Amino acid sequence: MKLLLINPKFPESFWSFQWAIDNVFSGKRALSPPLGLATLAALCPESWRVEIVDENIDAIPANPEADIVGICGMGVQFKRQKELLAFYKERGYFVVAGGSYASLCPELYGPLADSVVAGEVEYIWKAFCRDFETGAAKALYRETGEVALTDSPVPRFDLLKLGQYELASLQFSRGCPFRCEFCDIIVMFGRKPRTKSLDQVGRELDRLREADVRSVFFVDDNLIGNKPLAKALLQFLHDYQEKHDYWFDFGTEVSLNVAQDAELLRLFRLANFEWVFIGIESPDEESLKETLKFQNTRQDMLASVRELYSHGINVLAGFIVGFDHDTVATFEKQHRFIMQSGIHAAMIGLLVAIPKTPLYDRLGREGRLAADPDVQDNTKLGTNIIPKQMGYDEMIDGFQALYRSLLEDRNIADRIKNKTRYFAGVPEHTTDSFGGQFGILVRLLVHGLVPGGVVRMFHFVRSMPFSRPSLIPLAIGDWVVGLTMRDYVDRQFGQALGGSDGCLEDPRVSGAGEGLPGAFPRGSPVAELTVSRAL
Ligand code: SF4
Repeated sequence: MKLLLINPKFPESFWSFQWAIDNVFSGKRALSPPLGLATLAALCPESWRVEIVDENIDAIPANPEADIVGICGMGVQFKRQKELLAFYKERGYFVVAGGSYASLCPELYGPLADSVVAGEVEYIWKAFCRDFETGAAKALYRETGEVALTDSPVPRFDLLKLGQYELASLQFSRGCPFRCEFCDIIVMFGRKPRTKSLDQVGRELDRLREADVRSVFFVDDNLIGNKPLAKALLQFLHDYQEKHDYWFDFGTEVSLNVAQDAELLRLFRLANFEWVFIGIESPDEESLKETLKFQNTRQDMLASVRELYSHGINVLAGFIVGFDHDTVATFEKQHRFIMQSGIHAAMIGLLVAIPKTPLYDRLGREGRLAADPDVQDNTKLGTNIIPKQMGYDEMIDGFQALYRSLLEDRNIADRIKNKTRYFAGVPEHTTDSFGGQFGILVRLLVHGLVPGGVVRMFHFVRSMPFSRPSLIPLAIGDWVVGLTMRDYVDRQFGQALGGSDGCLEDPRVSGAGEGLPGAFPRGSPVAELTVSRAL
């Protein structure tokens, strides 16, 4: 059997990091590879010939030599996934739909695919393969039970062009103990974290090391969902790194309560985690309680971010606007918090109600869902919820103004100062070579700083932590992130930001903070999209 697996092209979003990919990260074409397809490939019978095409780095073949074409997709890819399913079906191929959105809403795929694979694939994909070989493939394969991750194979990393991605992906756990109202992860994977064995993780790292990968993203939606198991993993990773001369740098997603556990933080550092992504969502306690994100209300959030900095761990974070408690004043609170925290990869999204989540059900009951099934990217200028305490247009305007302000050169520089002030030394075992870092600086200068003129150069220079030179690469990475997000806003939000150091046009989002001192997973598209080692 010949199986072609396709990862559809993502619509551009903040997470594409397009400007950085095009201008700064030499030789890279996308951030992270389709780990799910590599896992699926490893579940196929040995006699099957499998090929993976990631449309984010390669063109899709018009007439592939294949018996089956399998097309995955998250919510943000649904439109393109539908197009590809139709394209190959029309050409007479047997098409299979899968991925997280098909898992959440298999009913949407019925007419589009010959078979739909919904849910975790470890058992049902093997059943599909057996049935297909005997000519008895069913329309729907749905996992309703619990998959033991110890049954998950080492992904076929050899089928991915790993050299063309900034990061490689690896998964240790599925599930999260929390119950954020908007989250689809706990709908799909449940609230009891399940994990792979440490031996499995070691085998996957061995494969990645053999493939010369240096940066690895643990795509778990919350790596510390089970803290004792997370600590065992981190200790294992520390031992692995010592044995292999600190070959890897790591990043992952965690909940904010990581900052309350000194041992966890110490182990993250020892294992060489350079960054974590945290769903902060809102500095407003009432909004956090409303969305059942109680874990963020148990400590001062600013102090928590700084606690991570003090352990040399960079913080990327998701923020959301549009909660029922949010008013136009919320934008200023968000602005103040993001400035003070120094977070650069601050992924602010409009609240989106994902089908099957408690939020979707509640807003449906309240008659507050707008009918746009394709609104799945919560960084776009539109959403499917009707806000409660502000008009829809007010929310969109405030959202735009918030981004525009944060991405002014002056505010990029101030946030860097607000971060480096609290940052301990960067990890001593960096995988970045001097030549690699120098190349990033040169390309940043040529493509980002010089075109910004004298004012941008001024802010760049004043943001550099010259008294602590080891932090300079961190500051440069933040400029890359800031200018990348700004490029996206300039192109996607319709009109350019104006002067490189302009003032806020929207008085609701005034710069503020300690003398101007100054992220999504929810379970979201974020899981597959990521960040770069330059962060
Ligand atoms: S949003 Fe994050 S912390 Fe909340 S339930 Fe989902 S995965 Fe867990």
